[in-house]
Parts: sequence; C-alpha cells; structure tokens
Amino acid sequence: MSIVTATLGYPRIGANRELKKALEAYWSGKISTEELLQAEKQIEQYNWQQQQDAGIEKIGVGDSSLYDPVLDWSVRLGIVPSRFRSLTGLERYFTMARGQEGIPALEMTKWFDSNYHYLVPEISDYPLLPPDFSDFLAKIASAKEKLGQKAVPILLGLLTFLRLSRVEVGQDKIFDELAARYVDLLRQLKDLGVSEVQIHEPALVLEEANQWRQYYERLYDSLATVGIPVHLVTYFDDLGDAYPWVVQLPVAAISLDFTRGNNLDLLCRYGFPKDKQLGVGIVDARNVWTVQPQPLLATLNRIQQVTSNLCIHPSASLQFVPYDVTREKQLPEPLRQVLSFAVQKLAEVVLIARGLKEGNLEELLKAKEDKWQAFYAFSPVNEQVQKRLESLTPEQLERQLPYEKRKELQPQLPPFPTTTIGSFPQTPEIRQLRLKLKRGQISEEEYQQAIHEEIAKCIRLQEEIGLDVLVHGEFERTDMVEFFAQKLAGFAFTEYGWVQSYGSRCVRPPIIYGDVVRLEPMTIREFKLAQSLTKKPVKGMLTGPVTMVNWSFPRIDIPRAQQAMQIALALRDEVADLEAAGACMIQIDEPALREGLPLKKSRWEEYLRWAVDAFRLASAGARPETQIHTHMCYSQFGDIIEHIERLDADVLSIENSRSNNETLLQIAKAGYKKQVGNGVYDVHSPAIPSVDQIFHQLQEGIAHLPPQQIWVNPDCGLKTRRWEEVIPSLKNMVAATRRLRETEGLQCSN
Ligand code: GLN
Ligand code: ZN
Repeated sequence: MSIVTATLGYPRIGANRELKKALEAYWSGKISTEELLQAEKQIEQYNWQQQQDAGIEKIGVGDSSLYDPVLDWSVRLGIVPSRFRSLTGLERYFTMARGQEGIPALEMTKWFDSNYHYLVPEISDYPLLPPDFSDFLAKIASAKEKLGQKAVPILLGLLTFLRLSRVEVGQDKIFDELAARYVDLLRQLKDLGVSEVQIHEPALVLEEANQWRQYYERLYDSLATVGIPVHLVTYFDDLGDAYPWVVQLPVAAISLDFTRGNNLDLLCRYGFPKDKQLGVGIVDARNVWTVQPQPLLATLNRIQQVTSNLCIHPSASLQFVPYDVTREKQLPEPLRQVLSFAVQKLAEVVLIARGLKEGNLEELLKAKEDKWQAFYAFSPVNEQVQKRLESLTPEQLERQLPYEKRKELQPQLPPFPTTTIGSFPQTPEIRQLRLKLKRGQISEEEYQQAIHEEIAKCIRLQEEIGLDVLVHGEFERTDMVEFFAQKLAGFAFTEYGWVQSYGSRCVRPPIIYGDVVRLEPMTIREFKLAQSLTKKPVKGMLTGPVTMVNWSFPRIDIPRAQQAMQIALALRDEVADLEAAGACMIQIDEPALREGLPLKKSRWEEYLRWAVDAFRLASAGARPETQIHTHMCYSQFGDIIEHIERLDADVLSIENSRSNNETLLQIAKAGYKKQVGNGVYDVHSPAIPSVDQIFHQLQEGIAHLPPQQIWVNPDCGLKTRRWEEVIPSLKNMVAATRRLRETEGLQCSN
C-alpha cells in the first residue's frame, strides 16, 4: 500500500484579496510593475506555506497568475493574435485580458461548469510567436527552492487548451507545433531537477473526448519520451466512455474526481492499471462543506478493493473555495463547524491519508460525524415550506392562459418598446452610503431616504430619455443574488469568503444551509415608490431561482432542485405581492441558467427539467394580465432553446454584442414566438454607441424576427457604468428606435 497527499492548485487572489488590490493600484498607475509582481509572489509564498504547514507531500505549484492561467498559457505558448503583437510585456498581457481603445480583448467565458471565467485563446494568426516559458520556469525554480521535491509544477494540458480555444488555423499543423513546445517545456523542467509534473486535462470528462483519442495518444506518447513522470489530472466529472483508453495512456498517475459523476463505477467495472498511481479527488473543491464520513468511507472502501497505490487530493484546484473558515466569526457555530474552506480542505486530505495508512479512518472521522449531527439538529427546518412543495400541483406550474391569449390582456406599448435590464450606475456615493450604514454612521432611515432619492432621480431621467418601460434602478442591491439571499431565511453569509470570478473580480457567494423561506416582502417598497412617480409601467425586478442556486454554495446533502424550488416559492409570493402593489410587468432574471448545465449532454434533460420547473413555479402564479420578463446573458443557448421556450416568459431579453448576434440568430431559427428584447449595445464597454450603430443592430433584429416581437434594450444591467456613459447611450438607443419606427411606418399610438 502506498498513500501520498497532493494539491491541484490553490486560491490565487490572496487571503485578503491582495491580488485585486494590487491590480487595481497598478492599473491606476499607483504601483510599479515590480510592486505588482511582488504582490503576486507574496500570495504564492503564503499559499506554499499553508500547504506545507498542512503536511501536503506533493504541492501543485506554478498556478499563480496575474489575471488568468489560461491567458498565461496562451502567452507562454506564443499564441498572441496579431492585434496585440505590437505591444509587449504586461501592457500586452493586460490588453489581451481587458482590451484598450481600438484593440478588443480576448473573449471571456466560463471555465467548464464553474463560475470562474477564463480568456479564450485565439489561435488565429500564423506563424505563432516563439514560445516563452521563462516566467513559468522562474516560478518553478523558486518553488523548488522553498519546497524542494515537494514542488510539482501544474501544466494546463494541451488538449484541454485546444478544446477551449478558438482555432482558426489548420488544426493538425497547430497541434504538432504546440505538442513539440510541450515536449520542450518538459525537458526544461527536467533540467531544473523537477521529478514529476501534473498535467491537467479536464477536457477528458467531456463527451467528445473520444473523438480526440488519437491526439491524446500522440501527445502523451511524445511527452513520455522526456522521461519525467507525468501525473495526468482530470476533474469536474467522470471519464465516461473514454475511461478504458485514458487509463492506458503512458503516464505515471491518473487523477479522477470522486465527488462528481460516476468514476467509482467505471473504476470498479474496468479496473485500474497496476503500474499507475490513482489520484483520488475526494475532498470537494467546488463546495464549502466538510467531508461527510459515511459516503466518504464507502467510496474509499470500494476504491481500495481495486488499487492501493493512491494519491489523496482535493477534487480540483481549491480556487473555487475561500481561504479559511476560522476567520468567519459571525457564522453560527454549528454551521461553521461543518464548513471547510481551502485550509480546512488541506487538513481533510492529510487526515484521510493518515487514516488510510493507519487503518483508523472511521475513528478519525468520528469528530466530523458529530459535527454533522449537531448541524442537522441546528439547521433551520420549515415544515410549512416542505409541505407546500410536497403538495405542488401541475397547475401551479402553468400560466392561466396561453401566451397568445394573455398577450392581448397585457399592457399595450409602442412598437419596439424600449427598456433597460434593471440596474443603473452604482456610483461611489451609493457604495459609500452602504458603508456608512454598516459602520453605523448613518441611520437606516437616512439610508432609505438617500436610496429613495436615487430612485426618484432615475425615474425622472428615464422619462426624460423617453424610455417606454421603466425600472427603479436597483440602487439598494449590492449584488443580485446577495440582496435576495439576505431577505430569505436559510442563507448564511461570510465576511471574507471571496472567490475569484475573473481577473480582479471576486464574489462572495452566500451559503444555503437550511430551508429557504421568505420572511417579508423583498422588493415592494422600492417598486411602489418608483411606480408612484410615473404613469409609464415600471418592471418589478427579481432574481430567478436557478440563478440564486447556481451563484450560491448549495447544500450537498439536499438536491439542488429542491433548493431551487423552495426559492421559487418565495419568489412566487413576491410576484403576488408585486401584482398587488400594481406591477403589470415583472422581470425574473436567469443569467446563470445555462451555467448549471451538466458537462455531459446525457444529463442535461434532468437539470433542465427542474430548472425550468423552478422558473415556472416562481412565475406562473402571475395573472394573465401580468407580463413576465426574463433576462439571460453571456451564454449561448441555441442548443437549449426549446427549454427557454418552456420558461413561458412573455418577454425574453438577451445579450448580443459579445456573441455576434448568435443568440438572436438561434432564437430566430428556432421560430421563437414570444417577444425578444434584442440587446443593442455592449454594456461592458465604456464606448458610447452611436445612433447609427444601434439602428444597424435593430435592423439585424427585424431582418430575423417579426417587428411585433421585438423589444429594444441594452445587453445587460448598467450598474458598472457611469452616468456620463449611460445617459447618452440610452438617448441614442431611443433615437435609433424612433428612426426605426419611422422607416418601418410603425407609429406610436401614444
Ligand atoms: N437585473 C440585473 C441588472 O440589471 C441583471 C444582471 C445580470 O444579468 N447579471 O443588473
Ligand atoms: Zn445580464
């Protein structure tokens, strides 16, 4: 029996978000390049220290990054599109990440099914630049100095890299050239005295991995010639059909994720090669809960019947969880005791390895079992909400009338109605206000008063601009998920629980820890105020149940579906209250609907069934006269369009500019019958779109969809923009719409 411990990567942002602070200081010219690099180095040193102190034997190193590791590998491999080639060093790096005037950034999208966003490599310009691994080699050299043989470099696997890239030049030529670069890198690592490397290939869990088999075999055959033991790492799902050939690749160790998918059955069915070590990803790196002893023991038992040459580690990089739960003094103790952030996960890995070696794991896990029992006794249970869910009837998921009928009853608007997605600028003043409230420097009433003034200003402004359907502006919300979570029982919040969303952006997902119940109306006061100030309709604005679950840390012992349905019930009550308060339009945002899709298509149906049901439970109680809107953005959904239709929302607003109108085209192609808010300009760019540009985008819309179906709106919420950008942009949007109404001969009835 041989048992070692390892890690597959660590949070990159620093325990106090030092990276974010350093990046922002660097971008605004307050610190030098050296100081920025120093900040990254300090985080790295701190991370290594934590892993070493915990007793990890093989510490994954080289995964630190100034913005995004996938971008780092693009640059190292010489994959730099020509529009960036006149730039050098960090200027080029950050321009690839964020763009600059006239040079658009690389596309950004979600890393597998996580909420981490990476920059999509663009292999469009040939020849490639020469590779340059010097920064990586320097990191590894310094890791070796500190950690000795414990340091194991982490490489992003070439085939995963290619799978995530936009490849526009000949696939085979690129593959051979890049494979040679990887071989070269391994040689250089060998010269540094590295005794093992981790190569991460999460793309192996995708269903199409089989089609890439010959490339994997070619690549790993040539990497094997270097003579460094390769530890091939997979995660986020099981290997599926690819299992039998993947485990035969010429590598020293293979890691599987035992927290998701069905690797355990594959392992038992097909066995595991005697000459390889099995990496056991058993401590969940994607969620914040401590291990559950019973399922853990059962899994390990079965694994040990197949092989006893094991490497125990977290299921993936720990970048998906915050640093340290012991800092969270505000959390209720029984909850905190079953939470586990990065440092705690390290301890779990070490504990499991020790228990396996000593044969007393069950005993060692006893304390955890007790903590779980104490948590169950504490976690809020609400029988009423459970009963309500049990007694759900199919009618509760159906609107009273079909779309065509209810459309006639809903508010009549000018052709191509104009609106926004909900939020208006969150200025430094508003954030200041919230800080003052938190510090007790202003009273709740003073805070409310200030928010009310913002709402009033926002309504006046939208009327001046001439929008048809108004919003209150969401000034009272820090974040669309956190805001609602704070109004619901069953959610807990951390003070320092930040995880990286992309680059310098970090989020603090709330934790679902008990039955979710609405305690009081959540949005009525602001809605009422806004509607009282205008004759135009104001949209009530809610965050959908699926997005609430996908952007939180959900319970692991309760199906996500059930958690979403409980949230949906709370929203259903809110919808009724909004109607009672006079709302004739209610928007339920679901920007995260798509990202919850399982990686394997064969599991899509199951997810989509409950996701759509949850949305319908939240929305279908609305009267036929009430127009239900939903909004989705930054994800393609051509392949789930029938499910989007099943949401049965009267109006769907979408984002277009970052996806080249693809979403619009897919909707049109599918023969989508309901109304579509065709996003007409990119809210993530500070540029002000001209009337012509928007008019052009509108024409794209009518080229594909009947005019009666089209609404006009920006791509997404405006909260990250400044008023100086928002006002002229929206004015241009209204002007372009008026021009369209004239050219189409469609006149306003009001
Ligand atoms: N209503 C939200 C807003 O405007 C929607 C944000 C989103 O799609 N992420 O900010
Ligand atoms: Zn959006």
